[in-house]
Amino acid sequence: MTYRLAWRRYRLPFLRAVRTAHGPWLAREGLLVRLEDDAGRAGFGEVAPIPWFGTETLAEAEAALAGLGDATGATAIDGIDESCGCLRFALAAAVEEVGRADGGPPASANARLPVAALLPAGKAALAAADKARADGYVAFKWKVGVLAGADEQVLLDDLLARLPKGAALRLDANGAWTARQASRWLDRCAERPIEFVEQPCFAEASAGAAAQRRTDDVLLGLARDYPTKLALDESVAGWRALQSWLARGWPGVLVVKPALLGAPASVLALLDQYHADAVFSSALETAVGRRAALRLAFSFKGAAARALGFGVAPLFEDTRFDCPPAPYLSIEDVSQIDPGALWNALN
Ligand code: MG
Repeated sequence: MTYRLAWRRYRLPFLRAVRTAHGPWLAREGLLVRLEDDAGRAGFGEVAPIPWFGTETLAEAEAALAGLGDATGATAIDGIDESCGCLRFALAAAVEEVGRADGGPPASANARLPVAALLPAGKAALAAADKARADGYVAFKWKVGVLAGADEQVLLDDLLARLPKGAALRLDANGAWTARQASRWLDRCAERPIEFVEQPCFAEASAGAAAQRRTDDVLLGLARDYPTKLALDESVAGWRALQSWLARGWPGVLVVKPALLGAPASVLALLDQYHADAVFSSALETAVGRRAALRLAFSFKGAAARALGFGVAPLFEDTRFDCPPAPYLSIEDVSQIDPGALWNALN
């Protein structure tokens, strides 16, 4: 099978700058790719890297695409280096779509899943939680590690009091805490309805291998010592890291951002192999990438079936590239996304 390959670059300003450890992130840059087979059937994919998460850069993805030429086959696509997880994701999703004759939904264990509402850091979370609750959300995630710990811990109880009965709150520290701060928080969380604490500590590659090993040991120790589940996000942003944490028997949750990880079918097989406790999450991609990421989420037959981490909409100034915010998503919602229309919008 030979495919005609084309790609288009995009730059989409965010509606609101995204706060990152590297300062404000103002616009999403990425690529849409299009493959077409001899019968004229087309499939689309998206390359949406986050280089400070350890993915390839956009330039690296473009160089690898240029290396494929205008016409390419499955062998060449499979041969793209593992380090280009975002490109592998895009091309595999496009190949899968070309081969999906009816374009219908995958055989799915999860027909409909709740979406976790993302609450802003600090006191603004309280009003946002009231609004999300009124909009029908049943799962919530709060960004922590931004204010002083004592102030946030007071807010935590105010916030929990506002959530619907039975709702569990996710906390995401984005690696902001020291081991000691994380322990203090986990003491606090032990008797409260906290679904999990995401990435309490993190060492970037630039901190060196020894610091990374120490942080990994801290994470394993915290997971062992406290009853609240921990989730890894920044730690598992690439295929190799995900595989290695699964092989080590990580006892907690794994935040899976499909857009960063490679071929969706391989990710699914890996998660199944280890009976992973996975939360599927956005990498702030457009609706094209989100469509493929959500198809993977709906195909996962994991026991926990946790709320989706896609509560980030509206994301872009140009709403055509967004998915409307919703407290629940079904596979039918996902099938309604038309990637061809977004491809044309970039012309
Ligand atoms: Mg996170």
